[in-house]
Amino acid sequence: MQENRYDIVIIGAGLGGLISAALLSKEGYKVCVLEKNKQIGGCLQSFGFDGKLFESAVHYIGSLDKGQTLYSIFNYLGIIDTLALIRLDFDCFDEIRFGQQSYRMAQGHEHFIDTLSASFPKEHNAIRAYVGEMRHVCEHFPMYNLRIGSELKYKAFTDASEIIRINPMYYDAYRIAGDEYSKEGKKDSALLSYKKALTLEIATEGERENIAEKIKRINRSR
Ligand SMILES: Cc1cc2nc3c(=O)[nH]c(=O)nc-3n(C[C@H](O)[C@H](O)[C@H](O)COP(=O)(O)OP(=O)(O)OC[C@H]3O[C@@H](n4cnc5c(N)ncnc54)[C@H](O)[C@@H]3O)c2cc1C
Repeated sequence: MQENRYDIVIIGAGLGGLISAALLSKEGYKVCVLEKNKQIGGCLQSFGFDGKLFESAVHYIGSLDKGQTLYSIFNYLGIIDTLALIRLDFDCFDEIRFGQQSYRMAQGHEHFIDTLSASFPKEHNAIRAYVGEMRHVCEHFPMYNLRIGSELKYKAFTDASEIIRINPMYYDAYRIAGDEYSKEGKKDSALLSYKKALTLEIATEGERENIAEKIKRINRSR
């Protein structure tokens, strides 16, 4: 058997596997993609039923304007011009219906805010705040900030604390770790975890007081 036939073996020919394989091949690696199903594509597939065509999962993709994430990746892979893309309705790419009531999701930040605010006029500020927070999160999400060549590093890399600050998962992880260490009697580790949880601004005042109390309790018991 030939040694070192492949540098990398990727299991699964979904979008993730295929794009990773294409990127690695472009970088000169010999890549093998293994797929267990008869058809490649993973969740991005279609099937026929009763004479009609359905998508299995992916029904649309976003960030395809110049400079946006998927555009940049597909452009880098050299396939952007070969894709038969059709832009979704600018005023309504998704419509949510409850009985007779219908709510439209529009494209573009301001257009999205204006369109949804027309349905919920009193919530205009909250909708704007929500969109602002979403933008903030996306700006700090490493994979949404890819750079090419010498700049090929995450914008957010230098700002890891910011990702942690806005991600409730980290707060929960530290808080739960603190509780687990406490149960196991590992006081130093528990203190460290609780203190880290306290540094995250995501915690509410009540939660912070609760953790501060736990820290005091551990300190008293030492
Ligand atoms: C219901 C639904 C709707 C969605 N709608 C959208 C949408 O509209 N727009 C959008 O952008 N995203 C959408 N998504 C998300 C999108 O489908 C995923 O982000 C994307 O498909 C993930 O790609 P993947 O390669 O990581 O995984 P998958 O697409 O799940 O591919 C994994 C592949 O690995 C293969 N595999 C698994 N185990 C093995 C093994 N042991 N050996 C060999 N092969 C293996 C599988 O057969 C599969 O082909 C949707 C997801 C779901 C579930």
